[in-house]
Amino acid sequence: MLLVTGACGYIGSHFMHYYLAQAANRDQSLVAIDNLLLGHKESISPDIESRVHFYQCDIGDKKALGEILQKHSVHAVVHFAASAYVGESQEKPFKYFDNNVFQSLSFFESLLMAGVRKVVFSSTCATYGMPVRTPMDENHPQSPINTYGVTKLMVEEALRALALASGLSYVLLRYFNAAGASPSGLVGESHAHETHLIPLALAAALGGGEPLKIFGNDYDTPDGTCIRDYVHVDDLAAAHLLALKLFERDKMPEKATLADSNGLGAAFNLGTARGVSVMEVLKTIESVAGLAVPFSFASRRAGDPSRLFADAGRANNVLGWQPRYGLSDIVETALHWEKHRRY
Ligand code: UDP
Repeated sequence: MLLVTGACGYIGSHFMHYYLAQAANRDQSLVAIDNLLLGHKESISPDIESRVHFYQCDIGDKKALGEILQKHSVHAVVHFAASAYVGESQEKPFKYFDNNVFQSLSFFESLLMAGVRKVVFSSTCATYGMPVRTPMDENHPQSPINTYGVTKLMVEEALRALALASGLSYVLLRYFNAAGASPSGLVGESHAHETHLIPLALAAALGGGEPLKIFGNDYDTPDGTCIRDYVHVDDLAAAHLLALKLFERDKMPEKATLADSNGLGAAFNLGTARGVSVMEVLKTIESVAGLAVPFSFASRRAGDPSRLFADAGRANNVLGWQPRYGLSDIVETALHWEKHRRY
């Protein structure tokens, strides 16, 4: 059985729904862990409730993990649980070292003690830091510029070490800008303190939020606003399922190996390879929703690179992954969620 951590968070909840919907066996279930500090139990909607063995606990709770792993025969793990606010990671670095690094290390120890050796890990393009070239491929230097990115890189390194020391197999998925919501309307993005562009822009357009502040219009980009690579959260979910299939092979395929990992692990960028500016996002909202986004220009946000977009060729070649959704779909599904959100 599959174990999912952070199962009630934004990406975890979409993966949980996607995984269960794709299962050939309609009785297929999974084990879900979330401490519910930021996650939403409501994401386990009535249609999937009977197929989710849910545990409210920290991933670093060795006693709870020991019991869960004894009760369920877990063959692989998708590890989403993490603190994921860049700004907060600068203000409270030790919270991020604790939640993202120490808790993960304790979790991996619990896994290894129970003989579980297959891990798909939620990583991020924030591990690369300032781009020295775009699009960014997986061999781009990793030099993060905030604590969040550092902690994700530390866990990547820990997995690499555990692959060499303990025979663990891992897949690192480095997300670019996750966005959108499930077309089912059952799950979507719901952060207590929203900082992301698309939900804030939609809230402003719908009149439920402050006018959007655009952080900088003097960047070296065609319209002066930052360029990002927005990838639909269900496309991310699909990539995790394909990553799990890699474990069915004896060894990671040659093309996917990291230079220093003895073929035990692989990293993949997940993005659309299409860079979109903040102003282009606003125009898409206007055309899809027929709503103007009230905005004003503000100063640059610290640590924002002018352009970030992925070379996702490896995910395409090795995993057979291809994003199905474009920016209009992202805006449409996010808008539907914003209007009819369940939580
Ligand atoms: N952004 C903005 N105003 C906001 C939030 C975000 O102008 O209120 C910009 C931000 O500077 C970046 C892009 O939108 O260029 C995406 O930011 P987001 O926080 O969604 O994701 P990030 O790229 O930081 O992971």
